[in-house]
Amino acid sequence: MTITRRAALAAPVVALAAPAFAQSFPTRPITMIVPFAAGGPTDTVARLISAEMGRELGGTVVVENVAGAGGTLGAQRVATARPDGYTVLCHHIGMGVIPSMYRRLAYDAVNGFETVGLVTEVPMTIVGRRNLEANTLQELIALIRQRREGLNLANAGIGAASHLCGMMFQAALNVPMTTVPYRGTGPAMNDLVAGTVDLMCDQTTNTTEQIRAGTIRAFAVTTNERVASLPNLPTAAQAGMPGFEVSVWHGLYTPRGTPEAIVNRLSSSLQAALRVPALVQRFADLGTAPVPAERATPAYHRRFWQADIARWRPVIQAAQAFAD
Ligand code: ASP
Repeated sequence: MTITRRAALAAPVVALAAPAFAQSFPTRPITMIVPFAAGGPTDTVARLISAEMGRELGGTVVVENVAGAGGTLGAQRVATARPDGYTVLCHHIGMGVIPSMYRRLAYDAVNGFETVGLVTEVPMTIVGRRNLEANTLQELIALIRQRREGLNLANAGIGAASHLCGMMFQAALNVPMTTVPYRGTGPAMNDLVAGTVDLMCDQTTNTTEQIRAGTIRAFAVTTNERVASLPNLPTAAQAGMPGFEVSVWHGLYTPRGTPEAIVNRLSSSLQAALRVPALVQRFADLGTAPVPAERATPAYHRRFWQADIARWRPVIQAAQAFAD
């Protein structure tokens, strides 16, 4: 099973022409909402792009963490904010699964947003506390089978990427595990390093530095090719789990009804941010890369997101993987 999304959807590059009010935008700080705790992978991506977007816009983009309920609280904050371009959501693949997984939400998870553009697609890694009695993925699988429900798996709540990857992992092994939900994988990582949880599946943007420092143990990367920043880490397929492929797309959103010219201005600043060499280098250090400019557009992002919602709906219904 794969949750990688690589459909080749053609998209026009955003026209930069905008009415006068968009040219004066922004006149005050923009808030970028991260729907998970500080220090985690979504937060890392948001902080990197917000700094560059702020520079490009000639203003400030401030990151605010509104964590909880698998990312739905932060999404709700943005969906119900004034549609003036001053509240932006940075969210990931959860935007594709939440509309099907959560049957009761206090916001419209399908039509409640304008899309600004995709940002990046990030590989995941299967990692564990450093004193686990397993050095390879096969040894880990044997340990899990031997302990049955004795090992636990951290995640960032239902609908988070870590939850999806964890579900896939348990399904592939056909072993249910105890899951430990956090408000984000930033705090979950602290507990993994401390050894108070056993395992996690999380983005390279959160795990790379810990893996390199040896504070956690890495078993596999979940893309079909190794990541250059972790050259010694096998892919899940190389380590004996063929077809276990997960990567996590991220995008920016504003509330529905945000003027098109403002959305286009935000999008052009995103596209400029994604070209900044220091950002490209930092993304590479963390195992990822910016999307090409033609994907960092409102139109491409909307088609991609809506296709992802449609793709997940039958999968979630078949698995009865509902949050409520
Ligand atoms: N990326 C994490 C997840 O979805 C959440 C986070 O950014 O903290 O599991």
